[in-house]
Amino acid sequence: MADEQKWVYDFAEGSKDMRELLGGKGANVAEMTRVLGADRVPAGFTITTEACVAYMQAGQEEPDGMAAQVADALERLQEHTGKRLGDDDDPLLVSVRSGARESMPGMLDTVLNLGMNDTSVEGLAKATDNERFAWDSYRRFVQMFGNVSRGIDGEAFEQAIAEVKSDRGVEEDTELDTDALKELTDRFKALYSEHTGEDFPQDPQEQLRLAIRAVFDSWTGDRAREYRRINRIPDDWGTAVNVQQMVFGNKGDTSGSGVAFSRDEVTGAPEPSGDFLPNAQGEDVVSGARTPRDIAEMKDWLPDAYEQLMEILKTLEQHYGDMQDTEFTVEDGQLYMLQTRDAKRPAQAAVRFARDAVDEGLLDREQALMTVDADMLTALLVETFDPKADYEVIATGVPAAPGGAKGEVVFTAADAVSAADEGRAVVLVRPDTNANDVAGFHAAKGILTSLGGKASHAALVARGMGVPCVTAASELKISLEDKCIRVGDRTIGEGDFIAINGTNGEVTLDDVPLVDPKEDPAFDEILKAFETVLGWADDTRRLGVRTNADTPTDARKARELGAEGIGLCRTEHMFMAEDRQPKMRRMIMAGTREARKDALEQLLPLQQEDFEGLFEAMKGLPVTIRLLDPPLHEFLPDLPDLAAQVERARIECTDDLEELEELLETTERISEENPMLGTRGCRLGILYPEIYEMQVHAILRAAKAMDEPPHPEIMIPLVDYEHEIELMRELVVRIGNDEGLHEGEDYTVGTMIELPRACFVADRIAKFADFFSFGTNDLTQTALGFSRDDVESKFVPVYMEQKIIDRSPFETIDKPGVGWLVRLAAWVGREARPDLKLGICGEHGGDPDSIEFFHMAGLDYVSCSPFRVPIARVAAAQAAIIHAHDRSWADA
Ligand code: ADP
Ligand code: MG
Ligand code: MG
Repeated sequence: MADEQKWVYDFAEGSKDMRELLGGKGANVAEMTRVLGADRVPAGFTITTEACVAYMQAGQEEPDGMAAQVADALERLQEHTGKRLGDDDDPLLVSVRSGARESMPGMLDTVLNLGMNDTSVEGLAKATDNERFAWDSYRRFVQMFGNVSRGIDGEAFEQAIAEVKSDRGVEEDTELDTDALKELTDRFKALYSEHTGEDFPQDPQEQLRLAIRAVFDSWTGDRAREYRRINRIPDDWGTAVNVQQMVFGNKGDTSGSGVAFSRDEVTGAPEPSGDFLPNAQGEDVVSGARTPRDIAEMKDWLPDAYEQLMEILKTLEQHYGDMQDTEFTVEDGQLYMLQTRDAKRPAQAAVRFARDAVDEGLLDREQALMTVDADMLTALLVETFDPKADYEVIATGVPAAPGGAKGEVVFTAADAVSAADEGRAVVLVRPDTNANDVAGFHAAKGILTSLGGKASHAALVARGMGVPCVTAASELKISLEDKCIRVGDRTIGEGDFIAINGTNGEVTLDDVPLVDPKEDPAFDEILKAFETVLGWADDTRRLGVRTNADTPTDARKARELGAEGIGLCRTEHMFMAEDRQPKMRRMIMAGTREARKDALEQLLPLQQEDFEGLFEAMKGLPVTIRLLDPPLHEFLPDLPDLAAQVERARIECTDDLEELEELLETTERISEENPMLGTRGCRLGILYPEIYEMQVHAILRAAKAMDEPPHPEIMIPLVDYEHEIELMRELVVRIGNDEGLHEGEDYTVGTMIELPRACFVADRIAKFADFFSFGTNDLTQTALGFSRDDVESKFVPVYMEQKIIDRSPFETIDKPGVGWLVRLAAWVGREARPDLKLGICGEHGGDPDSIEFFHMAGLDYVSCSPFRVPIARVAAAQAAIIHAHDRSWADA
């Protein structure tokens, strides 16, 4: 027996650091027992998550030794409490509570009042001198046990309750008298037999065994699986089971139960918040059957218990160093704590708490920064539902991208685009989305899907763009064919009004007022706290934070949000504008160098203006400008269309036939099978140097036109071979000399690292580059051989389900693969050139996990979209805090 695995821990043996083994609930109940004392927390024991895993692996068999260890722990519990399960005098009752590593609200099962049977109900009545209470406890147990352990539909029990209430002419559950509760218990037992073909189990040991199994089984139930899939919780964690002595909130008017937060969980204001119900047990408070009362009212009801609770909330907050979310029960005026955990909180409460905690001396700045979920901070920059608004929720999904959005329902990206052109506000509603829908994301106020989850295409793209998004709203049945949404007995059609709250996942048909945090005085305090927290982040981080911006508007916005320069300006975006497209097309289609130069001549002043705008917006800060890396096909006419036009012109012998034929011929010549891997980046600069020459002229002339000299960094895209960058650098320097400017002083030249080969030969490339900027979008595509637009909605979700990957590599950098290439290039690049400046400008630059990696890889800065700048500032600070004591590879 000596080396038998330990499956069971008494609460007295556990601690908060054991959550992987004991689950969050078990670990924290153990911790509370130590911190608050054994008379505040009912005693009990925890069966480990490892036992659950072993049980699942063995095909629903309890592992060897578990039963005996449970029996021993139960014996100790009976000794400790002086009561015995099933006793006919003063019986012990226990709860059997699930508790995974991470909380999965409502997904796993809990059974209360275990140990009730025909004998112990009499014992309980005698011991408490409260017959009604004893029978109320018994009927609750039969109900929960039947539901959890044997899958009997909860509706069936509720139905019986409703019948008995109407028979007796009462409205509330609490008005049912002892006789009524006896009748209910009988009815429930009958339901149980009907459903299972067995009598309700009377042996408490048997009840316990079945309840533990039921909690284990709930881990693999459909509900829990689905929840894990959309919230990215691994299936193989398993749940722990907590067996705990019952305390009773349903014993009468000086008993009750409730939930309490150590601070307001919505606003972060320093007053505790919560709800309670007198004479209630367990889930009554959250079930909605009775309307709970505000925690402040508890003061009048039971002033002593209230004071104790307030004191305990403070103690727990101090102890955990974080805002707490607790569950409590009062039995005959005596307060018991049943659960505590770090409170989930929206961005506003997160920054408010962080700032206040430092002011109050609860945390130091670094600790406070670590309590903020950086990824959520965009919520403070977008419009949100008015927190005071009342509205009817028709469905709840996953809060995939924060903010509130409302407008008319549209079902296709094309409809979203045309509605937006007409100035109408729309919400794009689809079962799920793919690359073809992305234009609709720009046009819509918000995105709503019935499928997917936190990591689906819709969620990733919306988060990246700052568009509010709700995914996995599975109550909605969306028919693209009929262009309607069905939910319950309602049908919502195209053009109907809808509103979504991407901050909490709610969907409503009510016209909820939206508030802009910047303009609403209610947010003053929060925005002040936000500024303070960002200031601390800036003092803490080592990584610089820049932005990806192509327009002065974006640049100014990013600068307001704290960007320290532009890490990527994509010049091809400057040619997408309506008035420039034709000029750009003429340039691309030009048959001769002369014709091309002519077209470029017309583009030059426009480019120069663009750069002047950017330099102005980024006065005093570096601006990295990438020379043209065009997806050429985007500027070409549609080939099949054009072919059809030519065909028609031939038949009708129209005047423009010759012109059309020429156009077709050129288009066919330039068109590529695979434009992604075709004449892109510096390949274009080598084939048609006049294009880059024009751009460099435009950049440097813009620089010369400024009062205060800017810091242009000219970036050569898609370099594979050192000779490519060598040639392109010569070109830039030649134009620089023409313009009378000096490389290294007036401007610098570097390259975007976005091909695996470039990473391998980074030392050779570094000889010709002042800086590297990792283009991790393309680097991910080329290293993995994934075409982003094709894979994100097609197989990435399946890959995640099958556990081939746990994140989309376009969301979080693939550390062992693509990340290794980054490290390698940074390392050998710096070996060749110690002063090489290193940045990253892919979308990963705004992802907190990736930012931590880039910090470790020794990069100098990250660059991300404007409204992710605050996220990056905080995430960079957190990386610096987490790795403060690591030895950086650069020193090694
Ligand atoms: P969940 O994870 O769904 O919150 P819990 O295990 O926390 O489930 O149980 C739900 C509720 O049941 C608790 O909030 C508490 O009110 C009640 N409960 C659980 N265990 C006990 C107990 N030992 N004594 C009294 N009430 C309990
Ligand atoms: Mg629950
Ligand atoms: Mg709970």
